[in-house]
Amino acid sequence: MVTLDDLQVSSLGPCTVDSPLALYVGGRTTNEYYVGEHDRILYDDTLALIESRGVGLENLPTFESGGPRDKIFFDPATTKVGVVTCGGLCPGLNDVIRAIVLELHTHYGVRNVVGLQHGYAGFVPELGHDIVPLTPESVARINERGGTVLGTSRGAQDPAVIVHRLVEEGINVLMVIGGDGSMRGAHNIVVEIERRGLKIGVVGVPKTIDNDIPHIGQSFGFSTAFAKAAESIKAARVEVEAAVGGIGIVKVMGRHAGFIACYAALANHDADFVLIPEVDFSLDGDNGLLALLERRVAERGSAVIVLAEGAGQHLIPASDRMDPSGNTVLGDIARYLREQITKHFANADQPLTMRYFNPGYAIRSVPADASDSVYCARLAQTAVHAAMAGRTDLVVGRRRHRFVNVPIPFVTQGSHNVSPEGDLWLSVLESTAQPFSIA
Ligand code: ATP
Ligand code: MG
Repeated sequence: MVTLDDLQVSSLGPCTVDSPLALYVGGRTTNEYYVGEHDRILYDDTLALIESRGVGLENLPTFESGGPRDKIFFDPATTKVGVVTCGGLCPGLNDVIRAIVLELHTHYGVRNVVGLQHGYAGFVPELGHDIVPLTPESVARINERGGTVLGTSRGAQDPAVIVHRLVEEGINVLMVIGGDGSMRGAHNIVVEIERRGLKIGVVGVPKTIDNDIPHIGQSFGFSTAFAKAAESIKAARVEVEAAVGGIGIVKVMGRHAGFIACYAALANHDADFVLIPEVDFSLDGDNGLLALLERRVAERGSAVIVLAEGAGQHLIPASDRMDPSGNTVLGDIARYLREQITKHFANADQPLTMRYFNPGYAIRSVPADASDSVYCARLAQTAVHAAMAGRTDLVVGRRRHRFVNVPIPFVTQGSHNVSPEGDLWLSVLESTAQPFSIA
């Protein structure tokens, strides 16, 4: 059970520096902009859950509110901030970089911002990546491009080396834009900083195209990603309807969480089957996928399957390969399905035209759409507010439309998945008319 302690954000020390916001808004009263210690956001939003805890208001689990504070920890004139992007690409990375730089510059007057290149590898002198200045000029219009101008990488780096470099470069705050692995890495950096008794803040902006980091609300870039995936599903529908015995497979991202598959399928009603990691399915049997496909093609002439990359892993031999960050390389479920469907239709003497779509890299590399751009900018601003107030070992998120600061250990200890008993999966079943169980 989540407690208030789980949600307490670490701090480098008391805030004694006046926020420069008052100067920025021309001496107007600024109180309404600031958040205070008591602006906390409830973790539970269901009355029955709150009641069942049986504790007073002050002991209910609550998040620290994100936002600017009247007193800050770091003096902007002497603060240097480093920014790094790690892990896979995701729409909006450049929006976040740009907004961090602009917020530091415009709101706080921090002029010394640098970018580490190619993820945590950028800290390791032997790997030869330059540290680059980030200015409002250098980040102008980078949001119009996909990818990350700082580059990224996978692979472990020694936290002691990273902290040594932070000290050498005089960096007071490190902003990490990355996924679950990057946040585990960020926490290790915090541990090393604390071990050395340093006052360096580490603040994360969680990046996960799969939307699989818990407690942060929807992750940035997710809505752009599933909109792009939905285009491929639409294309697949057009293709298979024109073919004889058309079956389309659209493979989308989602190693452990099928959110992209579900949302992309819901965005239009062109999918007949949605296969996600959280819900096992069988190929054989009367209600297995092969028989269902055969019936669907016989009834409607074609079928489209939206397949998350991590779905159906129980059907294929487990892989023992790892990527440089230690993530298991998944088995190729799309290929296996194509082979099995082809075999099944040949045995049943049914015509089949198979079309395979793999929009993965196209999904990752697009710029953020307008709505995600706004979200990226606001998350980045929230992260800068937390950093300048001396908060550390946290990520920013948005819960029920409120920006919050969340301890990194709290988000890295669990995962966020599509619940087979939840309303999202039910919506998918309703929109596809796929049976509750494919077995
Ligand atoms: P995504 O999975 O969304 O692409 P990620 O941040 O999870 O993003 P990874 O490649 O797993 O991507 O990790 C990025 C960086 O974080 C790498 O440099 C990796 O070494 C480091 N990292 C990953 N897992 C851990 C961990 N458990 N502890 C410390 N560092 C880690
Ligand atoms: Mg990851």
